[in-house]
Amino acid sequence: MKRREFMKSAVGFSAGLIGMSALKPLYADNEMEFRAEPMYDVTPTKVTDKVYYFLAKDPEPSPSNHAFFNNPGFVITSEGVVVVDTGSSVQIGEMLIRQIKKITDKPVVKVINTHYHGDHFLGNHAFIEAYPDVEIYAHQATIDKIKSGAGQFWFDFMQRNSNNGITGTVVTLPTKTFAGGETLKLGDTTLKIHQFGKAHTEADLIVEAVEDSVAFLGDTAMRRVANISDGSFPGTIETMKKARELGVKQYVLGHGPHDDVSICNDMQSFCENIYDNAMKYYDEGLSDFEMKPKIMAEPFMKNVASKWPGYEGTIGTFVSIAVVEAEANMF
Ligand SMILES: [Zn+2]
Repeated sequence: MKRREFMKSAVGFSAGLIGMSALKPLYADNEMEFRAEPMYDVTPTKVTDKVYYFLAKDPEPSPSNHAFFNNPGFVITSEGVVVVDTGSSVQIGEMLIRQIKKITDKPVVKVINTHYHGDHFLGNHAFIEAYPDVEIYAHQATIDKIKSGAGQFWFDFMQRNSNNGITGTVVTLPTKTFAGGETLKLGDTTLKIHQFGKAHTEADLIVEAVEDSVAFLGDTAMRRVANISDGSFPGTIETMKKARELGVKQYVLGHGPHDDVSICNDMQSFCENIYDNAMKYYDEGLSDFEMKPKIMAEPFMKNVASKWPGYEGTIGTFVSIAVVEAEANMF
């Protein structure tokens, strides 16, 4: 598909979804002027012979990292490549494609967006441009969120934080849905799609590469204190129990290095330390600012969680959100 034709079709399914301010530059005669510079190359980390991911070094988006701060991944099957999450921009998506082509000559046949935060889907644009027949999957709730404001919100968020480093990116909707429970056979590879309830968002998808014994957890688990405002503490605790039950050897995360099952244990402990204590102290009549130092004094929080990026600045917000959720679940 020619670029201009693509732009028309992209507008076809995203018109009304984001403001024309984002789309308009793409119609300009000298359209390259309106694309931010390309993303620098990041070498993929190999998990198994068929499973890779792009480890982002930085915990936050910035102008110098072009808003690259999460870990897109991919699985090479005998029937083509399946990409899990696409990064924060068309530029990042293009970089992923460049790097994938260095490892395999197979085309990308499917893309899966684990949830609606912009670092996980804004790169879709590059994939539909390079592979017009690619199928892009997400949960229906994720698609609804992108349509009803999250697309615009996350486009603006990444633009602001990268100093307009994602200019030219068009919010590109997933075209197919997974509800969780699906099994895909792609030649030599079996992928299982899991949805274990509200965790990091209301409908996170977890992708299991069965033969390789790897699960992509999206942002349901991380060793980082970032954003739980769209999620649930008890939901994350439940999701970690189920992720552990998958029994896979390795877990790839949306942020930070991949790991064995200890990541599930740590994320569960982190949420339990905050949520269970918030419930207890709420019952005792404490306010959130009174609970915060007590929760921070818990051995797990002192020894492990306090080393996580974002801890100092964000832990208070986590406690406040836990109190709101605890209160809502009590009555
Ligand atoms: Zn997220």
